[in-house]
Amino acid sequence: MNEDFNILKQEILQCKKCKLSETRNKVVFGEGNSNAEIMCIGEGPGYYEDQQGRPFVGKSGQLLDKILSVCGFSREEHVFIGNIVKCRPPNNRTPLPEERESCIPYLYKQLELIKPKIIILLGATALQGLIDPNARITKVRGTWMNWQGYYVMPTFHPSALLRNPKLKRDAWEDFKKVVLKYRELVNSEHHSDYV
Ligand code: URA
Ligand code: SF4
Repeated sequence: MNEDFNILKQEILQCKKCKLSETRNKVVFGEGNSNAEIMCIGEGPGYYEDQQGRPFVGKSGQLLDKILSVCGFSREEHVFIGNIVKCRPPNNRTPLPEERESCIPYLYKQLELIKPKIIILLGATALQGLIDPNARITKVRGTWMNWQGYYVMPTFHPSALLRNPKLKRDAWEDFKKVVLKYRELVNSEHHSDYV
């Protein structure tokens, strides 16, 4: 299993399937526990992620880590963090349909290998890229979806919470549901300070 994961990682790190390969600095494969029961999916690398080759290390990432930690979750143990596209779109523009299409098979393979029970979709691009191009994040956030046997919780992207702090209350409700589902599906004794 870990061998397959490393083979996939090496393949992705060398990928030139779409034009984002021409402008990226580093490919961002994703990180966390490769046996995690929770997978968080974002949009794509930003400036700092592209510099470091790691997901969610900028301001959004710090907020994400804070939210996860309040839930009692860490990257090392409970989650794997990935993105719809693995290379940074220039100026952080939304990835184009053809870029998403080139990259999405990698996310499918990561899901197949990690086999999480719960998927947290961070923002519209993750929701639309994985589940339904016409779905609206403001409409479906906070409601469990079943997709291919996974429990899927769509919620706001941390950058939306930074832009509009009023959304934090709703996001917190969504993450509470994830903690409760994690207790139900994975570990009834999972500890969180606030839930
Ligand atoms: N925003 C994302 O969607 N993904 C990252 O990895 C970082 C910021
Ligand atoms: Fe390959 Fe995905 Fe990077 Fe495009 S974004 S070059 S498909 S890894």
